[in-house]
Amino acid sequence: MVQDFGEREIRPHFMEWDEDQYFPIETMKKMGELGLLGVFVPEEYGGSGFGYYEYYTAVSEIAKICGSLGLSVAAHNSLCTGHILAFGSEEQKKKWLPKLATGEWIGAWGLTESNTGSDALRMKTTAVKDGNEWVINGTKNWITHGISGDVAVVLVRTGELLDSRGITAFVVERGTPGFKAGKKENKMGMRASETAELVFEDCRVPEENVLGNLGEGFIQAMKVLDGGRISIAALSLGIAKGAYEAALKYSKEREQFGKPISSFQAIAFKLADMATEIEAAELLTLQAADLKNRKQEMTKESAMAKYYASEVAVRVANEAVQIFGGYGYTKDFPVEKFYRDSKLCTIGEGTSEIQKLVISRKILS
Ligand SMILES: Cc1cc2nc3c(=O)[nH]c(=O)nc-3n(C[C@H](O)[C@H](O)[C@H](O)COP(=O)(O)OP(=O)(O)OC[C@H]3O[C@@H](n4cnc5c(N)ncnc54)[C@H](O)[C@@H]3O)c2cc1C
Repeated sequence: MVQDFGEREIRPHFMEWDEDQYFPIETMKKMGELGLLGVFVPEEYGGSGFGYYEYYTAVSEIAKICGSLGLSVAAHNSLCTGHILAFGSEEQKKKWLPKLATGEWIGAWGLTESNTGSDALRMKTTAVKDGNEWVINGTKNWITHGISGDVAVVLVRTGELLDSRGITAFVVERGTPGFKAGKKENKMGMRASETAELVFEDCRVPEENVLGNLGEGFIQAMKVLDGGRISIAALSLGIAKGAYEAALKYSKEREQFGKPISSFQAIAFKLADMATEIEAAELLTLQAADLKNRKQEMTKESAMAKYYASEVAVRVANEAVQIFGGYGYTKDFPVEKFYRDSKLCTIGEGTSEIQKLVISRKILS
């Protein structure tokens, strides 16, 4: 179903969206109608009620055609929607999940700030209690759906700087006075996935918009990111498979020295490395998905999957451009876009270096 949708609704337009940096919200809405925006939201809240295998399949099949939409689907499902699903009260789930799961509303999730990416605990955005409301001030940067998102889950400091129990998660709806979108980023890749600032100026949010308990936001965010890493591994694998399949086909068609270039061992061995690394990355990702489905501890495994799959995506996309030669360097073929899009995967939701910190801490503890 996702493949059919991708061929029909995404493939004819993805390069134009990329060139124009156009976020195709109408395509997102159609994916919502198909259940792709509430993949693991239970049916009682309007979702598809699936697990992480189906989620992996959906994100990677979309990313095989367009990394930007793969990223948007991943961020919507596992960050904003996933945070409310995991930590919202029954009332909060009933209020927001049906709109998010059906794509009526697009979700955003704000942790990062201009000075705090990897070092999220140093965030400066604050919320101060005033009667039955919280007053939020500050700016979140690099937020997927920062402009088009109808609702955002934002992580905000409610306690002391650097205190892991000093951060709280709030749900803020678009249209709340004092909440607006800021600058949109002009990116190298993932250009059709909107990335922008969220600006809060004396933004008043009611107490009932606090997700879970006060001071638990950072711990919640780390758990959300454990699942989010499966998303980015899936996104990476979609990009890697898209680039590999294009390169494999081209290598059989393109002739030099009177033979298909696939008959040269230098090219055939590149394809062998690409195929092997993709399968290894897929097994790591399915291992993390299996643990997540069984509600087992999976911090190390999801970090390994994200780290390895994202680095594989970059290597595979790079080799795909090489196999296409000069044609790979043009916008007439898809591999230059896979190459540009792949790089986000080693950065977003924790850089490769941060994944190695997570993995090494786990194996040394
Ligand atoms: C397209 C896109 C979409 C995004 N969407 C969202 C979103 O929806 N919500 C959100 O909250 N954020 C989002 N982000 C932000 C993203 O998660 C951050 O960019 C990422 O966490 C890295 O932070 P940084 O860019 O500030 O890099 P920095 O933290 O400044 O890192 C710079 C370099 O230093 C390295 N480094 C930092 N600390 C260490 C250390 N302790 N040890 C070793 N190396 C280190 C990093 O690995 C990196 O190589 C998005 C980013 C992009 C590009």
